[in-house]
Amino acid sequence: MVKVEPITTARVLRGPFDYEAPEGAVVGTRLIVPLGRRDVPGVVTGLAHDSEHALIAPRCVLDPSLPRDLVELAFWLADEYCSTPARALTMLAPHPGARAKTALYAELVAPGEGRAPDDVGGVDADRRSTQPPRLSDAQRALLASLPRFCGPDTAALRRLEARGLVHVSARVVRRAPVHLSVGAERPQPALTPDQATAVAAIRSAAPGEALLLHGVTGSGKTEVYLRAAADTLARGRSVIVLVPEIGLTPQIVARFVARFGETVAVLHSGLGPGERHDEWLRLRRGEARVCVGPRSAVFAPLADLGLIVVDEEHDASYKQEGDPRYDARRVAAFRARQSGAVLVAGSATPRPESFKALRRLRLPERVDGQGLPPVEVVDMRRAPRALHPRVHEALALARKAIVLLNRRGWSNFLTCRSCGRAWSCPNCDVTLVLHRARGAVSCHHCGHREPVPGSCPDCGSTSIARHGTGTERLADDLERALPADARVFRLDADVGHAAGVLQAFGAARSGILVGTQMVAKGHDFPDVDLAVVVDADATLRFPDFRAEERTFALVAQLAGRAGRSNAGGRVMVQTLVPGAEAIRFAAAHDADSFLAAELERREALRYPPFSTLIRIVCSAEESGPAHAAAQAVRDHLGDQPALGPAALFRLRGRERAQVVVKAADRRAAIDAVRAAVEVVSADRAHRPAAFAVDVDPQ
Ligand code: ADP
Ligand code: ZN
Ligand code: ZN
Repeated sequence: MVKVEPITTARVLRGPFDYEAPEGAVVGTRLIVPLGRRDVPGVVTGLAHDSEHALIAPRCVLDPSLPRDLVELAFWLADEYCSTPARALTMLAPHPGARAKTALYAELVAPGEGRAPDDVGGVDADRRSTQPPRLSDAQRALLASLPRFCGPDTAALRRLEARGLVHVSARVVRRAPVHLSVGAERPQPALTPDQATAVAAIRSAAPGEALLLHGVTGSGKTEVYLRAAADTLARGRSVIVLVPEIGLTPQIVARFVARFGETVAVLHSGLGPGERHDEWLRLRRGEARVCVGPRSAVFAPLADLGLIVVDEEHDASYKQEGDPRYDARRVAAFRARQSGAVLVAGSATPRPESFKALRRLRLPERVDGQGLPPVEVVDMRRAPRALHPRVHEALALARKAIVLLNRRGWSNFLTCRSCGRAWSCPNCDVTLVLHRARGAVSCHHCGHREPVPGSCPDCGSTSIARHGTGTERLADDLERALPADARVFRLDADVGHAAGVLQAFGAARSGILVGTQMVAKGHDFPDVDLAVVVDADATLRFPDFRAEERTFALVAQLAGRAGRSNAGGRVMVQTLVPGAEAIRFAAAHDADSFLAAELERREALRYPPFSTLIRIVCSAEESGPAHAAAQAVRDHLGDQPALGPAALFRLRGRERAQVVVKAADRRAAIDAVRAAVEVVSADRAHRPAAFAVDVDPQ
């Protein structure tokens, strides 16, 4: 018999369930099984001898199976993130509804391989001749274009097939759009001595070892990844490359495709289920040996993994928000140990966790020999406007500038000037943000939207104040303030086509790119001579132990976008707290001192990596049941050190309360939390509450 875990997100279905073993079943076999009154997809997670009672047979077996080590990974995920194997497997296995798509493919028949001319009925002139067949120019052109999919030429190619010149057959179409302009691959540059040292260290690393490639912005980390990948492929092993967001960093993907061609499979969020399925199959069959993609690419079904790269390892997008709330960096480390691969995490601003735990490889200088640009900290305590006059001046002089303001929209919130009413979300306890071009005020948490108010519903006043400045307003202000020929580009989550904006800015001779943290992500524009951070303390004001780390990374990353060519460059950082450590160290490009100070602070306060945090959020329509559930969870945690319950702001119509465990023993803490949540969620008294567990919250 086989143990089958159903692929379904319904938490009530607790597998595994027993079925009759189909022929040749192994751990990882995908199948469809009857469950209750439905047929559901499932994965074999174990084999056992037949039991006494008769078992139901699965409906059918799906091809191909899930690799055995991914089944093992699913169990680890379920365990590590307080989820279930079924949910974890749902993330790992391809969507069973997706099927490979086929189309007709034409190839030339090699001389001597085709059918004898005598077999070809109705074609006279070619019959007795050993001369090349008579062909029209159009037919010659058609033959010269092979092999390829037939497309609109199917009829013409079928006629050539009848003459034994062409072979036509059905082939799986790879639906992944080749969306990246690849261009001619520039010759492989000679490595700098630092790069060569790093590549050699990766080559000789122990199986399962994790390395930190700590290289300043523009130090050529990508070239190191490319060489390490080539080494790995040459040894017959495969490669996973994780990148934060493909839409924002198409350059790194393009460089992998340019160097390794068809053996690269690219996964990204824009793929439909069919395309995703096709890429999954190419990886599973070994047709593709390199997988590049965002966090979910860590689940690529590659055999013989030899290298996993995590580019921009500090990026918050590596944490998944749904269930299981996994961290792709941790999953990558698990897979590396599991398959004896080497893990390389790269960043100019590594996390304190990685800095402490991983063996460090350094690229301390930019490839082009340029120094990092000077950074000026601009004290905003007396400045009346969003931009300091000195920054305005610098922008007017700059040829190409990037301005970071980590707030989208026009203004943060609206109030009535006569009665003081503030516009807030009906579902969440937050204010609504004005988006002028859209003609709406909207909630950035639940997506609620309403038209821009013309008057106050409470007092009827038409005098409404707009507070604060977001990217939309700043872009508009700059357009007005600058000479008429200066172009302003805007990049934030409200802009439909991020890659298009980046391309336009890259191609422009001059201009200003205004945007949220999206503008600070790994772009390589050689001609940017000014970078500005408008409100560097925005992230510092967050009541979170990662506030310092985030602020440092944001400022240092943006600073890294400037001065990448002989033009030189400068950086200006506006802040209300010019003395803040994160800002001072970022201004000095001093990641080592920042990390040393930050690790000291974390150790004193017992924050990660000196402890493990687990957050349990209980939510309900009313605050009473939410709080009661959180209290009950805390009461069931035994001697685990925990904080709370503390009220969180209402979100999507639900009141929330959280408990945070801050533990020295990670394993014991995870087990205690799982047990507590299981007991409390099964208790009828807490039926109105829902529970979400977040291990290593970001
Ligand atoms: P990072 O990822 O560290 O910010 P990149 O890998 O984007 O840096 O490299 C910055 C630029 O330097 C790229 O245009 C890259 O093609 C180029 N480059 C990298 N290594 C070399 C090298 N050894 N010689 C010349 N140019 C290089
Ligand atoms: Zn009013
Ligand atoms: Zn809302």
